[in-house]
Amino acid sequence: MRINDIRLSPHFRLMEFECRCCGAVKLLPDLIELLEAIRSGFGRPMVITSGYRCAGHNRAVRGSKRSLHLLGRAADVRADMEEQMEIESLAKNMGFSEIICGNKSHYIHLAL
Ligand SMILES: [Zn+2]
Ligand SMILES: [Zn+2]
Repeated sequence: MRINDIRLSPHFRLMEFECRCCGAVKLLPDLIELLEAIRSGFGRPMVITSGYRCAGHNRAVRGSKRSLHLLGRAADVRADMEEQMEIESLAKNMGFSEIICGNKSHYIHLAL
């Protein structure tokens, strides 16, 4: 059995939030709760393209020094531009501190 293959909610597993370079992971439980609530409204799969990032990986992807990915408080979800608008409207008023559309980069960043 794979490490971090742990179900956190009906649609998310811990391994989906691992740092892409080293497999380390930190994750705020409230983030999963809100992502699951969005997933319910969205009604189709949501692929996490970036969850936790270690400092080295955050530098490699040119993340901000204060990126909430470093703290396990942020997730990027793959989404085309229409899906970004849909997810953004679902995420509004849920209490996220950051909702950032990547537009043509095809992701939306959600952080607590
Ligand atoms: Zn890493
Ligand atoms: Zn992000």
